[in-house]
Amino acid sequence: SCLSAAGPRTVLLAAPRSFCAGVERAIEIVEKVLDQRGAPVYVRKQIVHNSHVVRGLEERGAVFVDELDEVPGGATVVFSAHGVSPAVHAEAARKGLDVIDATCPLVTKVHAEARRFAARGDTVVLIGHEGHEEVEGTLGEAPASTVLVQNADEVAGLEVEDPERVSYLTQTTLAVDETAEVVDALRERFPALRGPVSDDICYATTNRQHALSAIAEESDLVLVVGSGNSSNSARLVELARRAGTEAHLIDDAGDIEAGWLAGARVVGLTAGASAPPRLVSAVIAALGGLGPVTVTEREITRETVHFALPPAVARG
Ligand code: SF4
Repeated sequence: SCLSAAGPRTVLLAAPRSFCAGVERAIEIVEKVLDQRGAPVYVRKQIVHNSHVVRGLEERGAVFVDELDEVPGGATVVFSAHGVSPAVHAEAARKGLDVIDATCPLVTKVHAEARRFAARGDTVVLIGHEGHEEVEGTLGEAPASTVLVQNADEVAGLEVEDPERVSYLTQTTLAVDETAEVVDALRERFPALRGPVSDDICYATTNRQHALSAIAEESDLVLVVGSGNSSNSARLVELARRAGTEAHLIDDAGDIEAGWLAGARVVGLTAGASAPPRLVSAVIAALGGLGPVTVTEREITRETVHFALPPAVARG
């Protein structure tokens, strides 16, 4: 009944949550380019994996395309936060496109590692999800030397040229605990395994997972604000479920089902790195519409990361 979804209710708000520095930078790049050059501004792939962000930028004149053959010659094109392979840069140059690269600097760092590890003669094992845009970009840096591994089970079947020369890299938005298992399995098979100096899983992914871990168990229900194709958001839902708590990914407050709330006195709430903060506020407001709500924020750390805009965009 309607009454069973009514409060009183506590909302445990995980912090950090929502936008990371790489997403803020990517969105600001598209906004600035729209201001500076006017519409249309072409963007290859979704700038970040969030339907609300994409729709908002479309309304301002951004045109999202899947591939560069949809972009007219000589036009301005923004590359998304997830990065692109060198082949895409080459194609843009061939077409005479004016490229503004919104790749997150933390993804660019992984690309540089891929080149460095391949150049020293290693087989590069990339831990990540097949088909994700970031993975396609990173694989493209050294395609002949890189192999993709999605989980610990796949490690056994790996074929490498020289077991003494193996390095690993990871997608930036993986689950911290699961990735450690894959690295352990790799190290067991290849004791000489080398990796990045610091983890490739980015600070924002790590912080959002740790913040959710801190509230997941005492929550009756966890809501994660994020779009279906957002990798780091999907990992948050899985993490809550592994903690034994019912969890759902919602694109916005409109996705909340009354049935989830029945008996849920404590609702854990977070948002993936690509989900705008206003969507979180709207979820709190929607829950407040169902009965009295007390909001308690649990902040595990404060993020101060900020990335400068590319020079071509920063002026003006
Ligand atoms: Fe960069 Fe991490 Fe944000 Fe991705 S989630 S854009 S790697 S800071």
